[in-house]
Amino acid sequence: MAKTKTENERGTGVMPEKVCDDKKCPYHGKVLVKKESYTGKVIRKDASRSATVEWERQYFIPKFERYELRRSRLRVHNSPCIDAAIGDTVKVMKTRPISKTKHFAIVEVIAKNTQ
Ligand SMILES: [Zn+2]
Repeated sequence: MAKTKTENERGTGVMPEKVCDDKKCPYHGKVLVKKESYTGKVIRKDASRSATVEWERQYFIPKFERYELRRSRLRVHNSPCIDAAIGDTVKVMKTRPISKTKHFAIVEVIAKNTQ
């Protein structure tokens, strides 16, 4: 059976202007992205081209008929050509496992941190 196009693709979104030689980059490297994607805020950044992305979601509690705020976090790959900063809103997409804790990569900076 032919592989569908959406299964393994280059990072979708805006192609970064910079070009990097990172082999784990979703645009210039060998890592391809899968369909699963999330949008969140970069809350932590460190060496080894990693970042932590967090977003909030509402979780319904039937007993109280109200929503509670829950947070999700992901360790993601931040390739040098995108280089998202802390506070930026980014789109992340699933990849093959990049390291022990990373299975996602930033593919696009949606909004820059303006503070
Ligand atoms: Zn790149």
